[in-house]
Amino acid sequence: MIRFEGVHKSFGAHEVLKGIDARIGTGEVVCLIGPSGSGKSTLLRCVNGLETYQSGRITVDGVRVDTASRTIHDIRTRVSMVFQRFNLFPNRTALENVMEGPLFVLKQDRAEVRARAEALLNRVGLGAKMQAYPQSLSGGQQQRVAIARALAMQPKAILFDEPTSALDPEMVGEVLQVMRALAEEHMTMLVVTHEIHFAREVADSVLFLDGGTIVEHGPAKEMLRHPKHERTQDFLRRVTHPV
Ligand code: ADP
Ligand code: MG
Repeated sequence: MIRFEGVHKSFGAHEVLKGIDARIGTGEVVCLIGPSGSGKSTLLRCVNGLETYQSGRITVDGVRVDTASRTIHDIRTRVSMVFQRFNLFPNRTALENVMEGPLFVLKQDRAEVRARAEALLNRVGLGAKMQAYPQSLSGGQQQRVAIARALAMQPKAILFDEPTSALDPEMVGEVLQVMRALAEEHMTMLVVTHEIHFAREVADSVLFLDGGTIVEHGPAKEMLRHPKHERTQDFLRRVTHPV
């Protein structure tokens, strides 16, 4: 569903992605882990055209991601993104946030869009909060609205960029639970996360990114229990046993 082939990306003279090769199959959950500054967000942002890359190739469902607006529109109808800081429209209710993309980007019928948005908010446990504005919702609730909004586009894949990192600890579980349910329904997901337990339980495979290269990748359970590379071992020791 998502394929990276020799992807290079620089900001000026600073090379951030140094030749990324990876693939995420249909229905797979892949967790992307790695230290701060290793290029995780940049890699995700290149997939849906929020960033451009200089060489190599990214394809989503067979469509090459490039800067042509036609392709960007195509790609964004195929992949949704969930951000660390939710990025909801503050002046729109939860329901309006979920309806926005299908109405104005996909230009779908309002009544159908509304019915689907309501069903999605129910599904993420927010049936009672449809008319609430983001500022009156907790972080965990806002992130669940953001996931409903991502699903409303009926994407083929969802990208998550540290979806629980901005949450108070007691709200992490409710968001991971929604993500786990999506995984069980075989949504294709590429998830940047430091939740190693989640990765071990839910992911099919894990990519460890360090300094702009994928240092190690493999089946989640195997790689997270017995990482082969010393840099992976160091990183996992630090995130699972913070000093
Ligand atoms: P991560 O998500 O793994 O923490 P990022 O992809 O955000 O890493 O950043 C990787 C590197 O690229 C960092 O050194 C960061 O400072 C740099 N970077 C990210 N975005 C920009 C930008 N818009 N302009 C310049 N440098 C950037
Ligand atoms: Mg990041």
